[in-house]
Amino acid sequence: QAQIRGLQKSFGKNEILKNVDLTIHKGEVVCIIGPSGSGKTTFLRCLNLLERPDAGIYALGDLHYDLSRIGTHQSREIARKTAMVFQSYELFSHMTVLQNVMEGLVTPRKVPKKLAEKVAYSVLEKVGMADKAGMYPSQLSGGQQQRVGIARAMALSPDLLLFDEPTSALDPELVGDVLNVMRQLADSGQTMVIVTHEMQFAQEVADKVVFMADGIVIESGTPSEVFDDPKEVRTKQFLTQVR
Ligand code: ATP
Repeated sequence: QAQIRGLQKSFGKNEILKNVDLTIHKGEVVCIIGPSGSGKTTFLRCLNLLERPDAGIYALGDLHYDLSRIGTHQSREIARKTAMVFQSYELFSHMTVLQNVMEGLVTPRKVPKKLAEKVAYSVLEKVGMADKAGMYPSQLSGGQQQRVGIARAMALSPDLLLFDEPTSALDPELVGDVLNVMRQLADSGQTMVIVTHEMQFAQEVADKVVFMADGIVIESGTPSEVFDDPKEVRTKQFLTQVR
């Protein structure tokens, strides 16, 4: 589904991603873990070109990109194959739930409104929010807003669905509902890349766990390889701190 080789990204003189390689198979759930500031969010944002990488090779579906020389057309192509769920939901406050979910179809993709509405209702149904379609984000709990954020991303039928710490802004009692929606999505075969601090969730749901530190992948493997039998000292140290 997606292959990334030698991804690099600096902010000014600050080298954030040094040389990141990752292979994501179709239908796979990849969880990225690692210490704060290790570049996890930046990496995720590079995958949908919200952040412009400096260099690297990116194969997405049947398309190949040299990230050091990418134009507007290619970056739009990449953006269209991906969708992001943000830590702070990023819903439009002046739009209803339904309008928020329809927006990405109607405006950039020119999907007819009637069809967009049908798609929006069907994804809102899947996240248990269809009955809130007429409400505004401010009328919803954080967990409900995040489920709308997930529905909005699902509506775009992305090849790669990206989650940036989707539960870390939520009150603890609201985390479970959001993780359940993500579990269902994973079971439905959606390819997902999730930056998360929820180790338990990563252990249960991930096909592959990637441990990042200092802008590189230190190790990756199945949850039991990484969590139960880590090879690298950095991974062991990190896991001791978070568990
Ligand atoms: P956390 O778990 O705390 O979210 P992270 O692993 O996701 O951390 P990033 O958010 O990717 O880490 O940040 C990595 C580094 O890049 C940080 O030092 C951050 O300050 C820096 N950084 C991120 N975005 C920018 C930006 N737009 N401009 C300058 N520096 C940035």
